[in-house]
Amino acid sequence: MNKIAVYPGTFDPITNGHMDVIKRGAEIFDVLTILVAVRKEKNTLFSIEERLNMVKCATKEIKNVNVAVLDTLLVHYLKEHDIRFVLRGLRAVSDFDYEFQMALTNSELYPEIETIFIMSSRQYIFLSSSIVREISSYGGNVSNFVPKCVAEKLKTRRK
Ligand code: ADP
Repeated sequence: MNKIAVYPGTFDPITNGHMDVIKRGAEIFDVLTILVAVRKEKNTLFSIEERLNMVKCATKEIKNVNVAVLDTLLVHYLKEHDIRFVLRGLRAVSDFDYEFQMALTNSELYPEIETIFIMSSRQYIFLSSSIVREISSYGGNVSNFVPKCVAEKLKTRRK
């Protein structure tokens, strides 16, 4: 039976840290679906369509990865699609509390869920979408931190 996992996130925008988690996750699972969350409550820099298109562009060469929008509760999506595995990335200690809370809450709502954590690689441990947005908003060069199509998109979004 195919092992299918989802990797949910905001991806505002997708970074090389996310890419590292995706590439490593794609070697563990037969199919990995990246779920780009709509995030009504968050003021994102990029719209859901833009975030989705950047993730698609960045992952188009990875065969067993596909991309979808998450516009409902994660557990509802998982139940509906009969998926049990959730992939998340862990950077410094600061990620731990939030990730632990999410994983425990999700397994309370849907006990069959297994959340799998991939530890950040050393070079991405301090890389986040918010740092990338900040650097880019002041005209800084983010080409070492994000996939090419994201760097190009960010240039169009500078104030
Ligand atoms: P969310 O708003 O759900 O936290 P993000 O897009 O910020 O969405 O992150 C999605 C997941 O990717 C989270 O599990 C986050 O910890 C992880 N992640 C983000 N950046 C990195 C990185 N540099 N290295 C490893 N994991 C990361």
